[in-house]
Amino acid sequence: MSYKNFPMVPRVIFGRGSFNQLEEIISPKRLNANAPFVFLVDDVFKGKAWLTSRIPLSYDDTLLFISAKEEPKTSQVDELVNKIILNHKERPSGIIGIGGGTILDLAKAVSIMLTNNGSSVNYQGWDLVKSPAVYHVGIPTISGTGAEVSRTTILTGPKLKLGINSDYTPFDQVILDPELTKDVPKNQWFFTGMDCYVHCIESLNGTYLNTFSQSYGEKALDLCKEIFEDDKLTKQESQDKLMMASWHGGMSIAYSQVGVAHAMSYGLSFLLGVKHGVGNCIVFDHLADYYPEGVALFKKMKEKHHIELPKGVCAELSDDEFDIMIDVALSLEPLWENAIGKNWKTKITRDKLKSLYKLM
Ligand code: NAD
Ligand code: ZN
Repeated sequence: MSYKNFPMVPRVIFGRGSFNQLEEIISPKRLNANAPFVFLVDDVFKGKAWLTSRIPLSYDDTLLFISAKEEPKTSQVDELVNKIILNHKERPSGIIGIGGGTILDLAKAVSIMLTNNGSSVNYQGWDLVKSPAVYHVGIPTISGTGAEVSRTTILTGPKLKLGINSDYTPFDQVILDPELTKDVPKNQWFFTGMDCYVHCIESLNGTYLNTFSQSYGEKALDLCKEIFEDDKLTKQESQDKLMMASWHGGMSIAYSQVGVAHAMSYGLSFLLGVKHGVGNCIVFDHLADYYPEGVALFKKMKEKHHIELPKGVCAELSDDEFDIMIDVALSLEPLWENAIGKNWKTKITRDKLKSLYKLM
């Protein structure tokens, strides 16, 4: 038995208003006047001076507003890297991502691809990255994905939706300032928050479970219940707790795996562009056979917060299209092995997946 030697985010700051310390945190990391900091910022903050005026720009530093409407693509990462190289005299001192999982994943991928040759497509998989990334900082503005703490950056390529999983992927620094999440719209709050909830359920009910994962997963699940089920918290308490639930949920899956909902949600997102949070919810709603207690509580929370999930997303699909989704879902073997066990192939058939997709 060989155990995984897991890299963690080496520096993290937590607190309301901690975003104000960004300048003092990054300035010692500036290599020289020609090596800029590049800030990748969710374009939902365009014109929002309360946030953008606090981004410390000097010398050749650049702020790029990026849309989070679609999930990150390998082509988008390659274009961003080329643009950054062409527009600056030297390789950046650092990449700072400010946004949700979409922007955080882009920041991680760009920082890796600035020091590794070729297209990001070549690095989708496990441990394919050769050189350390440039210094990169993650600043989440919505809570749930755990992308701030994870060892992966999930990219959609021409053939695969697959992460760049490597020891160089985790951020060098994370700033957890729950105040930055104050304007997240309610539906999005629920969908991204449920990503964390599903991480906990899939990790805690998986065959890969171990005490490391369990200790983080149980804490994150308790926090999710306080936030989404009890509803006795103030707005600020709820924001603070969801930010830490996301962190713990991410730590829990780091040392185990996700499961059925994630595997099937990747299929939806690859074919139809359904985003991760809502995709997980659409799938998870139909997984009572696999996660009975988790799904029952999910339905309760969904009702409590008056959340309507999209219906009939697979209604018009052809057999070929179902096949594409099934291929993507089945390619995620570790997720199935975690969820079902070593003999998962005898239990999870293409017909089984098709009948589940048809319900969605
Ligand atoms: P997101 O980044 O896609 O953002 C969702 C929406 O919320 C966007 O419209 C965005 O503009 C908006 N938003 C973000 N912050 C806001 C704020 N403070 N105020 C108002 N609006 C705000 O959402 P997400 O759910 O955090 O991320 C999903 C992505 O994360 C997917 O691409 C998924 O693949 C990835 N992901 C990565 C990991 C990982 O470990 N790397 C894990 C899970 C998910
Ligand atoms: Zn997830």
